[in-house]
Amino acid sequence: MQHEKVLIIGSGPAGLTAALYAARANLNPILIAGPQFGGQVALTHEIENYPGFPGGSGADLIDLMKEQAERFGARIEMDVVLSVDFAHGSPFRVQTGNQEYLAEALIVTSGASPRMLNVPGEKELTGRGTSYCGTCDGFFFRGKKIVVVGGGDSAIKEALFLTKFATHIDVIHRRDSLRAEAALQKRAFAHEKINFIWDTVVDEIMGTDKVNAVKLRNLKTGEVYEHPTEGVFIFVGHEPNNSLLKGALNMDVGGYVITDKHMGTNIEGVFAAGEIQDPLWKQVATSVGQGCAAAIAAEEWLSQRETVKA
Ligand code: NAP
Repeated sequence: MQHEKVLIIGSGPAGLTAALYAARANLNPILIAGPQFGGQVALTHEIENYPGFPGGSGADLIDLMKEQAERFGARIEMDVVLSVDFAHGSPFRVQTGNQEYLAEALIVTSGASPRMLNVPGEKELTGRGTSYCGTCDGFFFRGKKIVVVGGGDSAIKEALFLTKFATHIDVIHRRDSLRAEAALQKRAFAHEKINFIWDTVVDEIMGTDKVNAVKLRNLKTGEVYEHPTEGVFIFVGHEPNNSLLKGALNMDVGGYVITDKHMGTNIEGVFAAGEIQDPLWKQVATSVGQGCAAAIAAEEWLSQRETVKA
């Protein structure tokens, strides 16, 4: 079994920053990347609001973060954590797809995943006209009419991106005003390919082999009708990736891990950073800050423990 001082779970901005700081603190960290290297950011077509990175794809930013962490000795494994034994305390036994580790400190940065609408037809037609990622699937909708569901930053940003491919986009939002930041709203309202369907929810995604319509319901009038479309892009928020952590780490009602000011959890030696513990900010910049704080806190915790032992 491989013995580690610090093991980081997840490879988004929080995890890669924790790896950089832990490496520079001579902790020789190992980072287990998880199912999607770089997390959600790696699937983002353009990042415009991360200071010092004036523009470029999320994948480019993640590559730079990886390179910087590796330059100082962080080890990055393209592997997935299957289970963690939190019950026996530090050192924590971590089983991955390829290896078993004993880690003195853990930094959990497992992030969040897109929320589903949970309506009939959604599961069956995912990958057949229903998608949660414009960057991944936009190309398949070249020359088609599509709908985007949601009114937050993700929905509006992705709708703008999808105008590169689709001929027309209806944004379906359950209220009559957007949650997205003002700059994005302004661009979307001005875009000739984007139309808004307000106060409306999707009750069903329709089609046999592939999507051909959505069943819509106007929440103000109660009217239910079919709206023909070839694609449905869903951006209605995120759910924390907490399946490994349930029953061990304290969470809020939304399933986000509860951390203190030092990014510590209810278990000594387990720290958390980024969207797994952040229901509020969810920006690359905030995740980076949290990852940095978690690594510094883990280093302090480890050295205090060594002082007590000595
Ligand atoms: P979000 O801000 O939580 O927005 C989710 C949207 O989906 C809201 O408009 C919400 O409606 C709607 N919604 C939720 N559940 C729904 C349902 N069951 N049916 C229909 N509509 C539903 O999520 P997000 O857009 O994914 O953004 C998540 C976080 O990441 C935010 O903090 C955001 O600022 C950040 N982010 C930032 C950027 C950036 O470029 N700065 C880009 C992407 C994401 P209501 O408005 O009525 O609640």
